[in-house]
Amino acid sequence: MQIVRHSEQTLKTVLISKNPALVAQYEKLDAGERRLMNEAFLPNSDLFGPITLHSKSDWINSHPEAPQDFEEFFNDPYRKTPSAEKHSIYIQCIGQILKFLKKRKPEDAFCVVGITMIDLYPRDSWNFVFGQASLTDGVGIFSFARYGRDFYSSHYEGKVKKLRKKSSSDYSVFDNYYIPEVTSVLLLRSCKTLTHEIGHIFGLRHCQWLACLMQGSNHLEEADRRPLNLCPVCLRKLQSAIGFSLKERYRALVRWIDDESTDTPRVTPRHSREDNVNLPKPVEAFKEWKEWLTQCLALLHT
Ligand SMILES: [Zn+2]
Ligand SMILES: [Zn+2]
Repeated sequence: MQIVRHSEQTLKTVLISKNPALVAQYEKLDAGERRLMNEAFLPNSDLFGPITLHSKSDWINSHPEAPQDFEEFFNDPYRKTPSAEKHSIYIQCIGQILKFLKKRKPEDAFCVVGITMIDLYPRDSWNFVFGQASLTDGVGIFSFARYGRDFYSSHYEGKVKKLRKKSSSDYSVFDNYYIPEVTSVLLLRSCKTLTHEIGHIFGLRHCQWLACLMQGSNHLEEADRRPLNLCPVCLRKLQSAIGFSLKERYRALVRWIDDESTDTPRVTPRHSREDNVNLPKPVEAFKEWKEWLTQCLALLHT
């Protein structure tokens, strides 16, 4: 196993930057928030650890990319930021027909992401994808089909048998598609993918600093290894793009885990869909993450 360890000084610069305006901006953060983010460069932090690489096929080994520190993110001229008019993230469930995504984006949409249980890799010639996001258009589509416990078993029932498209708008191949059992592991994996991809839409590139949700992943085992939380560098990026209080964010996440019901939107979305399905919400796999959030909240409050 290889550990990607950056020096304290490197992580400090990556997070805070040396640009006086950005240093001043950092210093204006609430003291608790700075205490939490400073954990990024504490060598023995309980909250944030280094990235570990387990094989040659892991993302960093197989996809050399330029890293992105906070300053590069902040100055990226192509980055999309939400505005007062475009501030909503829409999640569109896609069932039997993929063309749903072609519908017009609601006016207040910052982005629209489609989620589906249909495997988006029905044939070898199709590129294998867990998800794909178009940063400029603010749209993405993600399949959770491969996160079910039976996907790699020989009796997986969701295999698309034959693909004979009559026209480019013929999606009948997906009729009566198979839905795997919604287990807590499937839910955790799906949350990771969705939030990672939405992070890209906000302009966050793959993280090479610390163990982080925004690490690239090349295979399921690597995706399982990365945490559901953002490292302080990526957290500062997202906070500067959206603007939120860390305390409120972490409290809301704990509430989501604790709340057993699935349909508790605080704000009624302007474009909520009529098909309000009541899916199960198994959260056993989120327990460890809840403990992590609780530790963060304690640090934010001291
Ligand atoms: Zn990615
Ligand atoms: Zn990160």
